[in-house]
Amino acid sequence: MSLKTYRQKRYFNKTSEPKGKIQATAKKNIYLTQKHAASHLHYDFRLELNGVLLSWVVPKGPSLDPNVKRLAVHVEDHPIQYSDFEGTIPQGEYGGGTVLLWDKGEWFPTEDPEVAYQKGVLTFKLKGKKLKGLWKLIRIKTSPKNWLLIKIDDEFTKPETEYSITEKLPNSVKSNRSIEAIAKIRAKLATTQTKKPIKKD
Ligand code: MN
Repeated sequence: MSLKTYRQKRYFNKTSEPKGKIQATAKKNIYLTQKHAASHLHYDFRLELNGVLLSWVVPKGPSLDPNVKRLAVHVEDHPIQYSDFEGTIPQGEYGGGTVLLWDKGEWFPTEDPEVAYQKGVLTFKLKGKKLKGLWKLIRIKTSPKNWLLIKIDDEFTKPETEYSITEKLPNSVKSNRSIEAIAKIRAKLATTQTKKPIKKD
């Protein structure tokens, strides 16, 4: 668990993302998904473990269909303080684009999470506002950075052809805003800043 890579990738005087620190929360099991309109729209799936957020980039986002396996690329640990982040990362900076807090709640591993994580088979229950029930993350042995995010069959399962959760529930659980609305807040700010009259004595 380290925030070294996370910090190396970012200039904290340019982005409003938190610098953060390694620190477990009282609950010790935060779960969240952020929708991120960077150069390619994707979903960032994060699980708290040992004071950081383990992080996966899910290009297509989660599916409630147990027959659908969604690629989840394991990326650098993020600070716990990232779990509330919503806003726009400036263009040209790492991950430049708008971030929307798409889902948040808690996760409950079905076995020792450290052992399961090392093994590359994490099975857990989610209690988010959108994602619920049993899920698993499985590491692909031939390409260790690549995992699969899969819904396990239970009462929360829905066929993807009938119900795409990313399409049905696109907005933020924090602000209820769409990604376009969050992006506009930033655009407005930028316009106000550039239009600010130059002070003259
Ligand atoms: Mn991202």
